[in-house]
Amino acid sequence: MGKIIAIANQKGGVGKTTTSINLSAGLAYLGKKVLMVDFDPQGNASQGIGANKKKHDSTVYEVLLGDIKAKDAVVKLKIPPCAVIPANINLAGADLEMAEFKVGREKLLRNKLIEIKDDYDFIIIDCPPSLGLLNTNALTAADSVIIPVQCEYYALEGLTQLLSTIRLVQRLFNPALTIEGVLLTMFDARTKLSVEVQQEVRKYFKERVYKSYIPRNIKLSEAPSREQTIFEYEVRSEGAKAYASLAKEVINSSQKEAAKA
Ligand code: ADP
Ligand code: MG
Repeated sequence: MGKIIAIANQKGGVGKTTTSINLSAGLAYLGKKVLMVDFDPQGNASQGIGANKKKHDSTVYEVLLGDIKAKDAVVKLKIPPCAVIPANINLAGADLEMAEFKVGREKLLRNKLIEIKDDYDFIIIDCPPSLGLLNTNALTAADSVIIPVQCEYYALEGLTQLLSTIRLVQRLFNPALTIEGVLLTMFDARTKLSVEVQQEVRKYFKERVYKSYIPRNIKLSEAPSREQTIFEYEVRSEGAKAYASLAKEVINSSQKEAAKA
């Protein structure tokens, strides 16, 4: 059965999109069937892997609020993750449109993704940098959430809000939602700050923090301009090694869960 993972943190610039693209690719290179859902109106994840080159009639917006089925909005690519539901600026109005719905507005994405859930091993959702209805929809559709935390000043700021949003979604819409893991991003071993932030995050989240962490790596920021994932752009980079290691961790923990179930 497929697993839906939301990559969420309402802060911008913490590595959500970079993680969505490269974790999806890492899982795909390990033989998993992966769909990446771009759920940010900025459409960075779609652009970063070349899924927004031509204008699509069906994006995640039409899936969310129109009659379009999720499977009919899937764009096939030559490079992993191979299957993407793209987003563009149309999605920016979705929050307001959904606000008018009185019932069921939190479950719109969930209801659409359920239909294709079993066609994939993993569905990765790149969330927008806000805690509005789009985020609620992503968290309601997801089985679990990965929280990227940038190893910078104020890393933990805002996490309290995110965790209370997660709890609210668990209580009201999606009791099965779990925290898949906390991912340290843009780690720079040369700076005392990165090391301190890492210690603080591990102290707080304990074993929920991935052993794999993502170093600050220029190749990771360059790859999207070539419409490549880190694995095509520079497979020997530290960034590629880190995302490959994360993908293995994600697969291992899913297998452990499946064995328990
Ligand atoms: P978010 O989706 O949370 O806003 P992004 O993934 O878009 O964050 O990352 C923000 C910026 O930082 C982008 O320009 C991206 O290329 C860059 N970036 C992300 N992760 C890394 C990293 N590990 N090393 C260097 N640059 C990174
Ligand atoms: Mg982003």
